[in-house]
Amino acid sequence: MRKFRADLHIHSVLSPCGGLEMSPSAVVARLQELGIQWFAITDHNSMGNCAVYEAVARKAGLFFSWGVEIQTMEEIHLLAYFDDSDQAQAFDQELYRSLLPIDNDPEFFGDQVIIDENENILRVEPRALINSSVWDLGTAAEQVCAFGGLAVPAHIDADVNSIISQLGFLPPSPNFELLGITAKLNLPEYLDQHPELADKAFIRASDAHYLTDLGHGSCIMKVQEATAQEILLAARKLDGRYIENDT
Ligand SMILES: [Zn+2]
Ligand SMILES: [Zn+2]
Repeated sequence: MRKFRADLHIHSVLSPCGGLEMSPSAVVARLQELGIQWFAITDHNSMGNCAVYEAVARKAGLFFSWGVEIQTMEEIHLLAYFDDSDQAQAFDQELYRSLLPIDNDPEFFGDQVIIDENENILRVEPRALINSSVWDLGTAAEQVCAFGGLAVPAHIDADVNSIISQLGFLPPSPNFELLGITAKLNLPEYLDQHPELADKAFIRASDAHYLTDLGHGSCIMKVQEATAQEILLAARKLDGRYIENDT
């Protein structure tokens, strides 16, 4: 068993709302300064940049998970993590096909670039990743599961794009055991207001779009290894595993 400081919700230069400063080397260098050993790139509706961030992370001795932040039909943000990069890429293609066929407006929403390790722009993603998938929450969760991934509702305490902001409550189905929370949330107070969530596990992350966001919001994960499978076992507190959120 090993303890990792982890931040599993970070945006790359592919996210239109993110900063072009979020290059692989800059993100990895900042995470190293902060003592964060394990991270995931979770861009909106695409895993196009995961491979390059993984390569740079590995060279630096950091652990990396392939992730994505799906925007469902209800405009709920649902994080998904994958241990197998082939499965992740197959899922990514399905997700891409489910996006509304609307082009990005870089002037209005920002650039969406896919880069290599040297930060050369390989291509610009034309489809607007800021839009929703045609998948509803149930379909998105099923698809993640079908490709061997772990689905985690993002920032459930956020005012917009959270499962609770969009639906007004946490539905019994699909059943999510682990819920994402924002960097700023006072979790004990929140649980006082939401006793129905008492049996859930939570994971805090930065949701960083800029370098200065990194370090605000992370967790300690005690697990066998840095995998999505282990995140779920830690949520279940199996055999001494746990997730401890910064306060
Ligand atoms: Zn989000
Ligand atoms: Zn996000």
